[in-house]
Amino acid sequence: MLAQNAFELTARCVRNAADGHANVCGAPGAVAAVLSGGLGDETGKIQKALETENHAERIGGLAGDLYGTYTPSATRIESFYGCPYRHFVRYGVRAAQAREYNIDRLDVGRFAHDVLDMAAKQVQDTGWDHVDEAALRKAVQESAVQAAESDPRYRLNAHNKAVLDAVTDEIVLAAEMIRQQSKKGALRPAKTEYEFRLDAPAVMGKVDRIDTAEEGGRRYFGIVDYKTGASDFDINRMAEGLDLQLIIYVIAVRALMGDNYAFAGANYMRIFSALREQGEPLEPLFKMRGIAGVPAEDARRLFGEDDKGGLFSVAARYKKDGNYDSASQQRSYTEEELDILAGWAVRLIGQARTRIEDGETAISPTEDGKHGLACVNCEFGDVCAFEAGMDEPRPIENEGKEARVAQMRAVLEAADETN
Ligand code: SF4
Repeated sequence: MLAQNAFELTARCVRNAADGHANVCGAPGAVAAVLSGGLGDETGKIQKALETENHAERIGGLAGDLYGTYTPSATRIESFYGCPYRHFVRYGVRAAQAREYNIDRLDVGRFAHDVLDMAAKQVQDTGWDHVDEAALRKAVQESAVQAAESDPRYRLNAHNKAVLDAVTDEIVLAAEMIRQQSKKGALRPAKTEYEFRLDAPAVMGKVDRIDTAEEGGRRYFGIVDYKTGASDFDINRMAEGLDLQLIIYVIAVRALMGDNYAFAGANYMRIFSALREQGEPLEPLFKMRGIAGVPAEDARRLFGEDDKGGLFSVAARYKKDGNYDSASQQRSYTEEELDILAGWAVRLIGQARTRIEDGETAISPTEDGKHGLACVNCEFGDVCAFEAGMDEPRPIENEGKEARVAQMRAVLEAADETN
């Protein structure tokens, strides 16, 4: 074993022992390798790891006073499952980073959502599939001027104005893609900014867009959530409480639309693609990603087709026999599978509430191969003092759709039997 690897392994091992966790280093040779010399002062860090405890106390009965009465959003539940301590600091202590005079990522996201929503309302009567490109561009630009009036910080300095001008150019492109998607497929935007608050499960949220279509004598609905960065649905993360948003939206919109509408799909649409090359085609950049609720044959009519054997609006492909290819199959859920995902989400929402009210505050971030450590986008690293490489994250295994759905089904059925 290399001396540096031995050092890191040993530091992690003793830190976990000091924190009262099981010894997870699994390499008895590590300590010997470190002690054999060659690391000099580095061994002092191991001493520090031994002397340091880094765990948060449960807040027990204080939780009721701290959180009060609340209906959580998907973001809040995901925050808890990503790291209970982060949830405690953000929603219990309500610590927040000071906002700058210059607009930041949150401002940009809010502005972009507002502009698209206002523009959608302007073109709703004409229809996204009938509005022409120039009229749509005008609607977006007018909406941007109106949205910029809504917050004085947006117009505070030249930097902010330049950022929002660039964002507006991006939204013009995203809107144009929505127009083209509406022309290619049967699904069209029908409702924007749908706010919901459910009692069972107790959860609230706002769906950016609901699309509808009538095809072959059936009615369908689709869900679209706008993102300013790349996003996708991951069943492994959903199973652990992290990617619950789309499934919660499916539960809410199913309740709104009733039995007359079949679920076509729920997808994230990226509304920024600022890193594209000059002249690069837009269509692949704006393809939506998420889950499909219909077979490929229906999806081709609902989401349109491109000229490369794929769907136009969503990132999915089909084979010569008309079925999804194997990668796209992983995004496709039958109605029974979707019910399992919905049941699992309901279970996780209830469990999160119980654990939050029980005062859980563990410093326990998740880690998975695709997204890395939950700490990456967390603003509370200086508060919790979690040290990657020393403290142990909670791994999320990549088990795949079939295995995850089977596990959820088994747990839900067992729970049904005991009730
Ligand atoms: S930095 Fe990591 S461990 Fe610390 S609160 Fe954030 S997610 Fe949790």
